[in-house]
Amino acid sequence: MYIDFHIHYLPNVVPEERILLEMDKYGIEKSVVLATPDHPRYTTLNLSGTNEKSRDLVSRHPDRLVMAAYIDPRNVMEAQTQIEQHYDKGVRFVKMWPGHGFSPDDPMIYPVWEKLNDLKMGVILHMGMLGVRPQVGTKVNRMAGMNAKFGHPVLLDQPARIFPDVTFIIAHTAYPWTLEALEMSFMFENIYIDFSCGLGYEAYNLIDRLHPGRLPWERFLFASDTGGNAGSFVERWSELMKEPFFAPYAEDFFYNNARKLMERLGAW
Ligand SMILES: [Zn+2]
Repeated sequence: MYIDFHIHYLPNVVPEERILLEMDKYGIEKSVVLATPDHPRYTTLNLSGTNEKSRDLVSRHPDRLVMAAYIDPRNVMEAQTQIEQHYDKGVRFVKMWPGHGFSPDDPMIYPVWEKLNDLKMGVILHMGMLGVRPQVGTKVNRMAGMNAKFGHPVLLDQPARIFPDVTFIIAHTAYPWTLEALEMSFMFENIYIDFSCGLGYEAYNLIDRLHPGRLPWERFLFASDTGGNAGSFVERWSELMKEPFFAPYAEDFFYNNARKLMERLGAW
């Protein structure tokens, strides 16, 4: 059994039926649908699964899909209100992109962490590099205000200490700052790591070569970062996790860790 902790809704590319068919075919019990900003930086790439569309999708399949609402914390009070409204509809995870121009340890947004802490919610953060995406054009890229420096995992150090009831999930292993992410997660019980997209394989490669002693196996999450057609990720990761160093933790990685986290946050 698998839980895919990171998909997006791309209705123009991967229709709803295909998501469910693929999940059934590969034994994916649940997938977390991360809503994306309503901005050309995303819609140009067919990432049109905004909060509204993602909610519609998830509400049609509440037993299979879990919503993570997109929140920009910089309008602090508005963000708090949005979080509360999502929470009231059953949402237990939000998604944020620090790379759009805010640091997770900027005290200005601490009232937003406070809100998530009160509600004991999870936040999935895009961390690590941002990619270049020349196909969206210079203008759109510039308007998205991106800056990868905000994707350093160590920027979660103070928030993780001050807000222990927020569960922070570092997406894409924060590659290339993967060792930093591993250490942060090893130190803090409220920091998890998702191994999504091709960068997850790079993280696997690092772990396989270094065999670090300080690994938070119970906080590693399988994830694809696909439009829900995650079959190739299931197949490749299932092979990789047969390696003796990883094999004892395979079931936790694919399923148990995510399930326990969802149960704890009330998203199961
Ligand atoms: Zn993603």
